[in-house]
Amino acid sequence: MPIGLYLHIPFCRVRCTYCDFNTYAGLGRLHGPYADALAQEVRLLASRFPRPVGTLFLGGGTPTVLSIKLLRRVLAACFDTFAVEDDAEITSEANPGTVSLDYLRALRHLGVNRLSLGAQTFDRGELAMLGRVHDAEGVRLTVQRARAAGFDNLNLDLIYGLPGQTLTSWARTLEQAMALTPEHISLYCLTLEEGTPLRDRVLQGRLPAPDPDLAADMYELADDRLAREGYRQYEISNWSRPGYECAHNLVYWRNRPYLGAGAGAHSSIKGQRWWNVRPVQTYIDRVTAGGATPWPSPAAEDGEIIDRALEMGETMMLGLRLTREGVAEADFRRRFGLSLEEAYGDVIRELVNAGLLTWDQTRLRLTRRGRLLGNRVFARFLPC
Ligand code: SF4
Repeated sequence: MPIGLYLHIPFCRVRCTYCDFNTYAGLGRLHGPYADALAQEVRLLASRFPRPVGTLFLGGGTPTVLSIKLLRRVLAACFDTFAVEDDAEITSEANPGTVSLDYLRALRHLGVNRLSLGAQTFDRGELAMLGRVHDAEGVRLTVQRARAAGFDNLNLDLIYGLPGQTLTSWARTLEQAMALTPEHISLYCLTLEEGTPLRDRVLQGRLPAPDPDLAADMYELADDRLAREGYRQYEISNWSRPGYECAHNLVYWRNRPYLGAGAGAHSSIKGQRWWNVRPVQTYIDRVTAGGATPWPSPAAEDGEIIDRALEMGETMMLGLRLTREGVAEADFRRRFGLSLEEAYGDVIRELVNAGLLTWDQTRLRLTRRGRLLGNRVFARFLPC
């Protein structure tokens, strides 16, 4: 079975006010050494885990802050060492308003066939609050350029539940996003992450605290509006035109094996999971140190064995995120040699009675209410 390959690019032009990802601004001098280290880690992973690659995802950070020359170097390492399937989905994240038509053409030429744009919102004040480097016009222009460059598979990321955001401004953002006819839309509810400037401003009372009930209304409004526009929800936070579901993220939600290369990247394969060191310079130093390279990657900071109980629980937790597919009885039985009834009968009945799950004996899925209370459901399947 092909695996997913994730490449982390931990650089951004500026840090957005809500972001706690492993990414850094102002490290341009490390772009070259980082790309070389990343290519080296990819080659090592390919020699240790020689599996076909069905999906490749350049995430970050902002992968497109790297020059085409550096991206070519990294992708060449993937194509030269892994058997990347001919029809592999190859995604790159990008920041609207920061990529030229020539850049996008070159990216397409490198084999990238899906572009994921962090639009976030079309409201000028909300964009400023989030510290985004682009405006609404920048999103429109980038979509236009991406189409001209030959991208026929585009995703827009949007965030709701922002301080001060109203249902009206959210509805306007949705309309403007749909007017650009992306094949895929991801909607994320804002989390005020520890240590971020946005959280500090809320805690200091300089911005209103987001209202979770209003955020739930925004989610339902989007769910109805996107459905009317012909988008199909397939995951708690993801909608697409039929056939444009994100194949890379499906690898995660189906709890299938993946490898991650780069600072802070996670991997899960052959019953083990590990994660790499996060600081960029430490990552470069670890990968380029030479000598005997520790298993499974010289950049691994720590890891764990995934035992059967954990694998089953995670398969439930991740699979239930897939709102249409859910967890299929036949898949579960094939993978674990047990029926859902044998593994989780009592828990399932309790959650069905609470109106959080539906179970037709072939598939287990979240209800609409269950989607809003997903974490409560998932916790019931994980081992203590
Ligand atoms: S562009 Fe994305 S990764 Fe970079 S700082 Fe902003 S939210 Fe974080």
